[in-house]
Amino acid sequence: MTSTSRISLGDFELLAVSDGIYRLDGGGFFGVVPKVLWQKKACPDEKNRVPTGLNSVVVRSGEQIILIETGIGNKLSDKMRQIYDQPAQLLENLNAVGIAPEEIDVVINSHLHFDHCGWNTVRKGDRVVATFPNARYFAPLGEWEYSRNPSVRDAISFISANYDPLVESGQMTLLKGGEEIVPGISVRTVPGHTAHMQAIILKSGGRTACYISDLIPTSMHVDYAWGMSFDLYPLEVIESKKRYYQESVREKWLTLFTHDPEIPWGYIEPDERGKMRVVR
Ligand SMILES: [Zn+2]
Repeated sequence: MTSTSRISLGDFELLAVSDGIYRLDGGGFFGVVPKVLWQKKACPDEKNRVPTGLNSVVVRSGEQIILIETGIGNKLSDKMRQIYDQPAQLLENLNAVGIAPEEIDVVINSHLHFDHCGWNTVRKGDRVVATFPNARYFAPLGEWEYSRNPSVRDAISFISANYDPLVESGQMTLLKGGEEIVPGISVRTVPGHTAHMQAIILKSGGRTACYISDLIPTSMHVDYAWGMSFDLYPLEVIESKKRYYQESVREKWLTLFTHDPEIPWGYIEPDERGKMRVVR
């Protein structure tokens, strides 16, 4: 997703704003799904990497500007840059829709893997400071506790400069799950990708949208069996997807996709055979 997309949800205006496209190993991205199947949907480069979106969502509530997720940012090491790329386009894409960092009132992170909270902070000389100086930041408490001592399996995904300075300064509030952050915007724990990742649920004017984050990272991952190798608890991903669809299909929720390179959102519904698909 390179350009900005816009949709209204009751009194909210939603803007999809990208930090750019990065590259993830296709095998990692599609888990146990054979390449002969996934390469019909995603085109790998010579290193077997597939283009992966970094979709943040800006919500204008009428009173506040809320930013969901902050991409990779610009603090990756040289080695990490070589593996993943570091597009670092979020600030210019926010600027293109007329939003300055100082105007953001609230920042919410679904979890603390580096590709979801990278622009929380920037380096300024030898200090790390908040990119959005006037914002209150929110992230899951369980994620932060886990990040102190992660498994070697996903230790590479945690860069403490993305969140520890904000926790120390008191600018970041850590959430248990279930809290309403501003009227109509709440979080809910959806285990599977990690134990404590939180979806962000937006409700206004009788309509609902959900930033489901890495539980369903793209429109290519709506099938129960299409999970990522990065998921720490793959069987829980399937159970969480089932619970999500029970509610989201019945109530016609708009699903916001964190890593889709082309489609920022859509409605997930079963086809006549019961297979999930995305309708825009
Ligand atoms: Zn993740």
